[in-house]
Amino acid sequence: KRVITTEAMEEDLRLEGSLRPQSLSEYIGQEKTKKTLKIYIEAARQRGDALDHVLFYGPPGLGKTTLAGIIANEMGVHMKVTSGPAIEKPGEMAAILNNLQEGDVLFVDEIHRLNRQVEEVLYPAMEDYAIDIMIGKGASARSIRLDLPKFTLVGATTRAGLLTAPLRDRFGVMHHLEFYTVLELTTIILRSAQVLEVEIEPKGAQEIAKRSRGTPRLANRLLKRVRDFAQVKYDGKITLEVAQFALDLLEVDQYGLDQVDRRILKTLIINFQGGPVGLETLAASVGEDPGTVEDVYEPYLLQNGFLSRTPRGRIASDLAYRHLGIEK
Ligand code: ADP
Repeated sequence: KRVITTEAMEEDLRLEGSLRPQSLSEYIGQEKTKKTLKIYIEAARQRGDALDHVLFYGPPGLGKTTLAGIIANEMGVHMKVTSGPAIEKPGEMAAILNNLQEGDVLFVDEIHRLNRQVEEVLYPAMEDYAIDIMIGKGASARSIRLDLPKFTLVGATTRAGLLTAPLRDRFGVMHHLEFYTVLELTTIILRSAQVLEVEIEPKGAQEIAKRSRGTPRLANRLLKRVRDFAQVKYDGKITLEVAQFALDLLEVDQYGLDQVDRRILKTLIINFQGGPVGLETLAASVGEDPGTVEDVYEPYLLQNGFLSRTPRGRIASDLAYRHLGIEK
C-alpha cells in the first residue's frame, strides 16, 4: 500500500482521533472558512438555533471531518457520522434522521455517492425538518409526514460539481478547503508531535511538511513513519537529517509527489509528447480511475504548476519536465 495516498488508511484511523483538533482555535489554516464558520456558529448559538447546513468540498485529508466535529463541539451538540456509500435504503436514512436530537450534527462523508432514493429523503429533511414515510401497500398506500428535530447536515465531497443541483441548493453554506502551506503543515506537525510525545526539531518538522502534499492527513502519517525511523535508527529525536533519510526511503520526493503523481506526469510527457491529452485517455494509460485522477491527483499537480488544464486536454509544464529530468 502506498504511503502517500491521501485517503485514510487503517493506521490513520487509530490515531486520527487523538490528533484531531477539537475547537476552531486549535484548527490550523483554512482562515477564510474558519472566519465565516465562527460567525455562523456564534449567530446560531445566540438565536438558540441549529446551524445552517454546511457543505465542505476539496481533496481528501484536508480536514472536512475534523471541521464537522468542531462545529458539533462549538455548538455543544452530538455528531452522528455516516457516509454516502454506507446508506443503501431510504429507510436507513429515515431512521438515522429520526434518531437525531435537537441541534445535532449529521456528518455525511462522500455525500455525492448517496443513491437517488436516499438523497430524496434528505430534501424535505433539510428544507422543512421532516420526512415523508409511505405506509401500506398498493391502493391503500399513503404517505405521512414525520417531523424531525432541527439538525445540521454537514456534507463532505471532493468536488461540489459531483452533487446533484437539488442537493447542492439545500446547503446554506459551502466551503472549498484548500491545500495547506508548508508553514501551516509545520505547525500541525509540531502540534501532533507534542500529542504523540515525539521529540522533533523545527527543521525536521519543516522537511516533513514540505513533502506532505499540502495535506494534514499525510503530514501526520509521515510524522509517524519518521518517528519509527528515529526510534530504531537514531536516538528517537526527529532532526532534519533523520526526516530526509526516512522520507527518501519512503520515496516521497521534495515536492511531495509520489509514484502515481510521477507516473501521471511521465505518461503525459513520454506517451503523449507532453499533451494536450484528454483526462480519460490519460487516466486509462496510468491505470487509474478518471474521477480519482481528477479529484485526488490533479488538484495538487495543477496548484503546483506541474500540469495545466486546457480545453484540448492536460499539458505538462516545463517544471514537470525539469522535475523528472526529461529534455523537452
Ligand atoms: P477529510 O475529512 O477532509 O478527509 P480529516 O478531517 O479526516 O480529513 O483530516 C485528516 C487528519 O488531518 C485528521 O486526523 C487531523 O488530525 C488532521 N487535520 C486536518 N485538518 C487539520 C487542521 N486544520 N489542523 C490540524 N490537524 C488537521
